[in-house]
Amino acid sequence: MNIMLKIDLHIHTIASGHAHCTIWEYIQQAKKLKMKAIGITEHGPGYAETIVKSTYFKELGRIPKVIDGVRILKGVEANIINTKGELDLDDKTLQRLDYVMANIHSETLYKDKGSKLNTQAIINAIKSGKIDVLTHPFAEKGFPSDIKKISEEACKKDVLLEIDVAYLSKRRLNETTIPNLKIMIDTIKKYKKKIIIGADAHNIWELGDVANLDKIKKEIGLTDNLIINNYPKELFKLLKIDE
Ligand SMILES: [Zn+2]
Ligand SMILES: [Zn+2]
Repeated sequence: MNIMLKIDLHIHTIASGHAHCTIWEYIQQAKKLKMKAIGITEHGPGYAETIVKSTYFKELGRIPKVIDGVRILKGVEANIINTKGELDLDDKTLQRLDYVMANIHSETLYKDKGSKLNTQAIINAIKSGKIDVLTHPFAEKGFPSDIKKISEEACKKDVLLEIDVAYLSKRRLNETTIPNLKIMIDTIKKYKKKIIIGADAHNIWELGDVANLDKIKKEIGLTDNLIINNYPKELFKLLKIDE
């Protein structure tokens, strides 16, 4: 695999409160890297550190579709707020976005409810039809869940499972990371689906960088033909947006 993504749909800007570059800086970097598309996905308003409210997401559509030859997608990394799988953005706002990514996050009102209820919350979010990508399902960070059940439900509902490369750094790798990734990949193979890779960039130097994934790719059974970032047409079709 090329260790740079041509499409990276998981990006945070200074609006997140803990990231360090602007949308414009990301666009310039994407152009430099000859990327095809990038997606802006600030944390939803329920995230403690974010400085954005729902209005921010409503207005995102004012940014042009293509800037300097780079397709700019507007999304969100929303937070699941309860076991019903509800999100921290209203439906009307969600519908205005190109795509919706979500999961349970710390620094939100959702507190750990144990594996059974956490799993239920995530599965209900998948079933709601409101999300396109389930971010970092393999990285439990305080919210244990049944990764197999979640992966199967996502495949059945055509919700993309994400490999979030930011969670593969030495500092963040833990004993569950590799086994969980293997379960995710085995499941998508079983259902003949693809997986999405996101850098979860918090600065321009992380944009599209998947070097940490490259190191474990073989071990987790990931091959290029399973990565939807390599198939723009298929990806855009799944997100129901034009290229
Ligand atoms: Zn963040
Ligand atoms: Zn993120």
